[in-house]
Amino acid sequence: MYPDLPPHTLWSTQPTGGLFSSCDWPGCASTKLFSSQIAQSEHVSATHILDVLQNTSGSCTWPGCRKSKLDTSKKLETHVVNIHIEPLRCAFSSCSRTEPFGRKGDLDRHIASVHKKERRWKCPRRNCTFHIKGFPRKDKLNEHLRTRGHGVLKCEYRHCGNSTADFAPFLTEAELMSHFDDHHGNFECGIGSCASTSSAFTPRTLRSHVFRYHCSSRSHMDYENLCAIVYQIAERSQSNTCTITEDDSDGLQISDNCKECVDERQHNTS
Ligand SMILES: [Zn+2]
Ligand SMILES: [Zn+2]
Ligand SMILES: [Zn+2]
Ligand SMILES: [Zn+2]
Ligand SMILES: [Zn+2]
Ligand SMILES: [Zn+2]
Ligand SMILES: [Zn+2]
Repeated sequence: MYPDLPPHTLWSTQPTGGLFSSCDWPGCASTKLFSSQIAQSEHVSATHILDVLQNTSGSCTWPGCRKSKLDTSKKLETHVVNIHIEPLRCAFSSCSRTEPFGRKGDLDRHIASVHKKERRWKCPRRNCTFHIKGFPRKDKLNEHLRTRGHGVLKCEYRHCGNSTADFAPFLTEAELMSHFDDHHGNFECGIGSCASTSSAFTPRTLRSHVFRYHCSSRSHMDYENLCAIVYQIAERSQSNTCTITEDDSDGLQISDNCKECVDERQHNTS
């Protein structure tokens, strides 16, 4: 019945104005002087708040409060805690309501009716519909930023599905790092138009890059062949980077031009 009351939050809005002060609860008959805020708070919770909680009139007797219809001790306790001891307030910074809520359900209803329709979370891209429209929740905005690439960080490696000029799906350095850990390795493509680029492929992504952009005929045989080539590159190289070049083609029909690098070059010169 008697809640765990954090002493410093109790009835301590007024400064005590000196080391020894009397109880400032309105109407307190005690003449005792307290040497600290904590000592006074202990007196307030042990005497006055206990009185309020044990009152059976059905109304709150906290000074200045006239709340009625608190006909069970549970209702009274919930009211006293949420209104007077640890005020339960709406956490939306845009909210104009400052009074606390007596019950969690009242706060939930307030949020549902007042704030759920607000779409305060805007996409930073000016040309995006959601720059104006916004989202009602931050997690919805984040999901949009990641899937549409409207975030703030992008992977700078070439040939990474995440590194086009305006696709930035990462919101934090940590997300970018974990992308790097999961999707990159020390393999490079040195064929034709890719020669001067950094891609940090893994064996798997190098394989699919070469297959997709440099193989003229994409047969099952070619893919098998390519797997063997990439495997050999990994084997032969004891150094840090493993670069595939035309010399490794070994029967594969290799074309120099990688569509992505050619497009990128046109994009930069136009
Ligand atoms: Zn007192
Ligand atoms: Zn009250
Ligand atoms: Zn509110
Ligand atoms: Zn957007
Ligand atoms: Zn990447
Ligand atoms: Zn390329
Ligand atoms: Zn390439």
